[in-house]
Amino acid sequence: MTFSPFTPQLLHWYPLHKRDLPWRNTQNPYIIWLSEIILQQTRVSQGLPYFEKFVNNYPTIRHLAEAPLEDVLRLWQGLGYYSRARNLHACARQITYELNGQFPNSYQNLLKLKGVGEYTAAAIASFAFLQPVAVVDGNVFRVLSRYFGIYTDIASGKGKKEFQLLANSLIPADSPDTFNQAIMEFGALQCVPKSPDCDQCPLQDSCFAYQKKEINLLPVKLKKVKVSTRAFLYHDIACGDAVVVNTRHEKDIWQGLTDFPLVEYNSPENIDPEDSNLFQELQAFEPEVNYESEKTYKHILSHQKIFSNFVSFKVPGEHYTSLESWAHKRGFAVMPKSDLEKLGKPQLIVRYLNDKK
Ligand code: SF4
Repeated sequence: MTFSPFTPQLLHWYPLHKRDLPWRNTQNPYIIWLSEIILQQTRVSQGLPYFEKFVNNYPTIRHLAEAPLEDVLRLWQGLGYYSRARNLHACARQITYELNGQFPNSYQNLLKLKGVGEYTAAAIASFAFLQPVAVVDGNVFRVLSRYFGIYTDIASGKGKKEFQLLANSLIPADSPDTFNQAIMEFGALQCVPKSPDCDQCPLQDSCFAYQKKEINLLPVKLKKVKVSTRAFLYHDIACGDAVVVNTRHEKDIWQGLTDFPLVEYNSPENIDPEDSNLFQELQAFEPEVNYESEKTYKHILSHQKIFSNFVSFKVPGEHYTSLESWAHKRGFAVMPKSDLEKLGKPQLIVRYLNDKK
């Protein structure tokens, strides 16, 4: 461990300011892993109710492994980044059925788990098994770059290595768990991205960025995520109490969730229902069609902006059998509307269905 006033100052600050969060009072690797996966790219206030739902529904890893994936996706609904939920489920099965229900107790072996990257492996290794491996997330990059004056790009491989080495050199062997909790909490509460209250910060005397007045220049992040725009036209096809649905199998966003038959356009301005091949095929069932071009649903993901319109079709009951055979040929399913309620759906579809009520 390198000597720097940073570690003792941080460990002094932590007990005075830390929040009481349920996953902090345990060394149970299952609970720690669950909280870490739920909290990735998610604020604590948003993740906390999901954490509680998961712990109540699946009190042990075996409960989670034995649950159908659809139930897990449904519980995850609204949290986004659904690949995390699928990985969560796959990892629970891996541990339960291949590792006899036991979490690996070393950083290197934790990295072999499905959906567990360097950050999560370090968190479990240090919180559950007291291994001196530092966690490095956005909060940690910010705190270390400001305090030590490091201008290396945090999005670069070089930057990641440099920050990991520095954090590992600061972590005390006798309390790696407290250090990791403390540095993340310090980044979340004190050394926040915008306008940190440096005048009240106990680390200000030795903080590079504060002394040099360069707080707004750190951390350096050069790569920008490229955001693409997508335009969806959803076909909400109902026949009596039944509705035509699509399960998203392909390698794309929302894999495994249920939505409606969809045609994608190259820009939101080009959406035109009469131009869609589904629209033309559906005319055979003499539907009542309703389309409001003004009603566009916008949904923003980290790397995609989605603009979506819905065209609805009410097909008379006499066409039910032929509609069903058309849907099956197209790879869609026909189910009662009440069954659709129970399935995991993209948030955009949930918003649309709520608006229809
Ligand atoms: S003085 Fe300001 S920039 Fe430096 S560690 Fe404290 S909050 Fe962060």
